[in-house]
Amino acid sequence: MKPTGPIPAGFEALDGELALGGVRVSEMEARAGRTPFFAYSKSLIAQRIADLRASLPQRIKVNYAIKANSYAPLLELISDLVDGLDIASGGELQMLQDLGVDGRRISFAGPGKRDAELEAAIAAGVTLNLESENEASRALAIAERIGKTPRLAVRVNPDFELKGSGMKMGGGAKPFGVDADRVPALIRTIVDAGCEWRGLHIFTGSQALSADAIIEAQANILALADRLAQEADVALPKLNMGGGFGIPYFHGDEPLDLDPVGEALSKHLQTLPKSLQDAELFVELGRYLVGEAGVYVTRIVDRKESHGQTYLVTDGGLHHQLAASGNFGTVVRRNYPVAIASRFDEEPTEDVNIVGCLCTPLDRLADKAFLPRAEVGDLVAVFCAGAYGASASPSAFLGQGPAAEVLI
Ligand SMILES: *Cc1c(COP(=O)(O)O)cnc(C)c1O
Repeated sequence: MKPTGPIPAGFEALDGELALGGVRVSEMEARAGRTPFFAYSKSLIAQRIADLRASLPQRIKVNYAIKANSYAPLLELISDLVDGLDIASGGELQMLQDLGVDGRRISFAGPGKRDAELEAAIAAGVTLNLESENEASRALAIAERIGKTPRLAVRVNPDFELKGSGMKMGGGAKPFGVDADRVPALIRTIVDAGCEWRGLHIFTGSQALSADAIIEAQANILALADRLAQEADVALPKLNMGGGFGIPYFHGDEPLDLDPVGEALSKHLQTLPKSLQDAELFVELGRYLVGEAGVYVTRIVDRKESHGQTYLVTDGGLHHQLAASGNFGTVVRRNYPVAIASRFDEEPTEDVNIVGCLCTPLDRLADKAFLPRAEVGDLVAVFCAGAYGASASPSAFLGQGPAAEVLI
């Protein structure tokens, strides 16, 4: 047996089936119209954001990084619950514009912004988190050509990182942001060129479960932001402090305790340096807001034995849930939380391998998981599917097509 991750709070058994907010998995399937599907819970997302706000000082604003999950009905829900939205492409900008989100609530980070993307963002009043000096000069030229004042911030590549984070994005050479020692000169250039100065963006990593690591990173971010602002002789109207708040995916992961993070931030707020005194302060979060609120459900189409092991072969797989297969930024594959959704109240009796329908050995959803006996036709649930599921999986692979999605 290999352990599976912890099933997130909010899921329950109802008439023997997995249920969420009183909706049984068979009802979810009826609403989705087919398997495989992703179901996302409105109430779990709203609750998560309310709890987050209760833990953080009131002054801290919350952005949602839409790459975690850009399903339109979910975006519509969440855009009313957060203060701003972070995008990383012109395609994501279009998704928000289709929903009527005001461009002034949006900030755009990410390397390789093309001229057409810069133009669409500047025209819409989106804040650009500049990733390089070259991008800054292209943005200024485009703004001049279309007669708009661009809203510009600088993304900093800091000299430190978020410790214990799943994906390191700060410290040393990076394609992201401008090296800290070159930031003051770039600030002077864009401010002197007459942009609407929007401050700094300092992102240091993802998927941290340690409050201490986040507290340390935030202290470093505030100190660095002040130093850069002083060197450039500007105040900061806004500081995006990144995020990195993680969720438990695997056996042994403990949920992040946000109360100490909130307490440390409260202390900082009482002693903010002059450069930050009027700054709007943001955290930007993806998986923390939506990851645990989603479940991926797939149907068993075959049950077979090979060399003494049992395989449950499903109609889903890594083309929808790449992360659960262990092929999205993990070094060692470990089991996500999984369950037999159609027998959610039954006792586990056997070790099974749950695989997808793709013709590749990479397509595994669970290895040697200890689960109730399941037959062809039963439903498998893979939890922690609300972030980096549908939006981060190769759904065109092998012509299998995308999963359905529903918000419940
Ligand atoms: C991906 C990303 C996020 C969201 O990361 P999560 O781990 O999902 O919270 C936030 N900010 C930036 C700059 C990102 O690239």
